Amino acid sequence: MDEIFTGSFTQQEPISDDGIAAALDVLRHGRLHRYNTQGDEIAETALLEEEFAALIGARYCLAVASGGYAMATALRALGVGPCDKVLTNAFTLAPVPGAIAAVGAVPVFVGVTEALTIDLDDLAAKLDQANVLMLSHMRGHICDMDRLIALCNAAGVRVIEDCAHTMGASWNGVPSGRHGVIGCYSCQTYKHVNSGEGGFLVSDDADLMARSVILSGSYMLYSRHRAAPPPEAFEAVKYITPNISGRMDNLRAAILRPQLRDLDARVARWNERYAVVEAGLHDLPGLQLIPRSAAEQFVGSSLQFLLLDWSADAVRQVLRRCSARGVDLKWFGGTEPVAFTSRYSSWRYAPSEAMPTSDRILDGIIDLRLPLTFSLEDCAQIARIIRAEVAVVFQSAPV
Ligand SMILES: *Cc1c(COP(=O)(O)O)cnc(C)c1O
Repeated sequence: MDEIFTGSFTQQEPISDDGIAAALDVLRHGRLHRYNTQGDEIAETALLEEEFAALIGARYCLAVASGGYAMATALRALGVGPCDKVLTNAFTLAPVPGAIAAVGAVPVFVGVTEALTIDLDDLAAKLDQANVLMLSHMRGHICDMDRLIALCNAAGVRVIEDCAHTMGASWNGVPSGRHGVIGCYSCQTYKHVNSGEGGFLVSDDADLMARSVILSGSYMLYSRHRAAPPPEAFEAVKYITPNISGRMDNLRAAILRPQLRDLDARVARWNERYAVVEAGLHDLPGLQLIPRSAAEQFVGSSLQFLLLDWSADAVRQVLRRCSARGVDLKWFGGTEPVAFTSRYSSWRYAPSEAMPTSDRILDGIIDLRLPLTFSLEDCAQIARIIRAEVAVVFQSAPV
């Protein structure tokens, strides 16, 4: 009998006891709204922002309702509006072009390399088309950030980083989200911290952060923040910046604060799991692992590999065979978007030209999540199953 994996690829760890206790405190006093404080009480949300700013080494931090909201806010703060073009990755998830669409702007898609990072040559060729790059560190793969920032600076293109998959990661020791002018993070259940929904926006730029705070729905209560610029920074923007409510609340913040304290330990646990699966898939004909740069300190909360130049039929056989053995693989090459996988051509509200070099790679990307509820033995078993099924299909129909 072939072994079958019985774990769930979508089951995260429960909220820890200190998170539950902190959440109960908020529920008991009832002041869930971030500006609803008594006397000299400091709201959980304000404390969370202060702690995340310190963790990531940013001057300012704003906690918001979602990662997608953080990205749309970043675009608005930078003055991106209807019909403006925004450079972004062809390989990313739907909330990224969605954030661009939210402000009425139009994405200009940039290709993907076999390292699953943004194609910097394609970016260089397109830099004259926009003033802003929404850079998605999709699935935690970080490109050569030094080269990217040099290219963008030379062209006067400002960079927003989508760090939904890189909270806790860094490039050459600089935390992901600290290379561009604004970094955006998600605290949604499937990311690196879990409050159901939620997000952060970080920046060192006082003007951009003052705009973001007002945009998020601070009314004129911005002085209650602890990781926001001083009141002077708000003078120039407070009458001209609309309130587009998307605040975080104290309940979510209470759940998140203990998780931030635990982030480094979680990153280490993700990377142990990643290393086990990666080792189990080494040197397998037909399967290409994704090379990681020594400059990249990544978070292995998911793993990708390429079945490059395989026929769609052969890829489907691998997915089917793995699924029958409990291993839930996602494929970015399908013609129809399924669950969270989609590709630039799926976003029909955003015009795109065909990108054959990127299509070849997208057609081969296989994705699996590695939740921390998996043991190292689970990870070894998952790799054995994938290895066996890829080998069977590859041998029967060499591609
Ligand atoms: C999840 C995700 C987001 C947005 O996060 P939400 O909090 O769900 O809005 C942005 N970019 C990528 C790549 C994501 O996976």
